[in-house]
Amino acid sequence: SAKADGAGFYRLFSSQMEKSLQNRRHIESDLRRGIKLDQFELYYQPLVELQTGFVVSGEALMRWHHPEHGMVSPGQFIPLAEETGAIEVLGEWALKQACQDALGWPDHVRVSVNLSPVQFGRSGLVDMVKAVLATSELDARRLELEITESVLLQNNAANLEALRQLRALGLTIALDDFGTGYSSLSYLQRFPFDKLKIDQSFVRGLEMRPESLPIVQSIATLGKNLKMATTAEGVETQAQLDIIAKAGCTEAQGYFFGAPMPEADFRALLLEPLALPSRRTLPST
Ligand code: C2E
Ligand code: MG
Ligand code: MG
Ligand code: MG
Repeated sequence: SAKADGAGFYRLFSSQMEKSLQNRRHIESDLRRGIKLDQFELYYQPLVELQTGFVVSGEALMRWHHPEHGMVSPGQFIPLAEETGAIEVLGEWALKQACQDALGWPDHVRVSVNLSPVQFGRSGLVDMVKAVLATSELDARRLELEITESVLLQNNAANLEALRQLRALGLTIALDDFGTGYSSLSYLQRFPFDKLKIDQSFVRGLEMRPESLPIVQSIATLGKNLKMATTAEGVETQAQLDIIAKAGCTEAQGYFFGAPMPEADFRALLLEPLALPSRRTLPST
């Protein structure tokens, strides 16, 4: 009967809920232990300036060396860290580590650090960034913070103010994954982003899906007119590089130039300019 089904469903539902709650608590304690035990590492992926072929920045991308699960990617643990609040500690650790790492790189190379929208929920974000910069003694101009549109979607006024204060420290702000989410142009009117990062979903299909091309071209033009840099994310092939360069993007990032790599490898890459395919094969635009 319907009643019995209902009760059975409820039992099943509540036991699943309990399990997932236990699971969440388990993951939260795993995360916190992982931070204490130094299980997290920052990998770096090069951002290449198309006009020169130089690496102009390294994006810090978190990796978790889990004692049982091996290497865990941020797509798996960042959402959980956000849900449980562990992102606050993890995000601060990443910023400190990234600033320290960048001190060992040539002065013209910046470091890009992703900020979670959850970190904006904390009133102390601006002071935290300020303190990390002061302690590390990294020139603020060498730090770029990447945020997504969701930061501007909620708590709009407070988050805009935090962004203004962050930018006033001398660092730059990039809008990540641009073109997905809500992509309201009013954000661009309300805040002077320094860079738009074109989501890899538009770049990935460029050879096969020509309908992505006018979108990439339009974002590149928008960036040019608003005096923002435009980075094409997820460039994997020479053909994609040729297309996004012709479209007017100013920077590229993707497996074609290098996957995210340990810091020592990234530092070595900076000393070896011919290691990048861009130094040999950049299209003449
Ligand atoms: P994101 O910031 O958009 O970073 C780009 C992602 O695309 C990275 O995935 C990178 O490895 C991947 N990628 C780069 N080039 C290519 C390519 O040519 N092809 C393909 N298929 N993928 C490419 P990853 O490292 O797994 O990071 C995923 C997301 O996790 C990041 O997306 C970012 O939103 C988040 N994340 C990573 N580290 C941090 C962190 O320290 N803090 C916060 N809040 N989020 C982080
Ligand atoms: Mg990013
Ligand atoms: Mg992105
Ligand atoms: Mg992304």
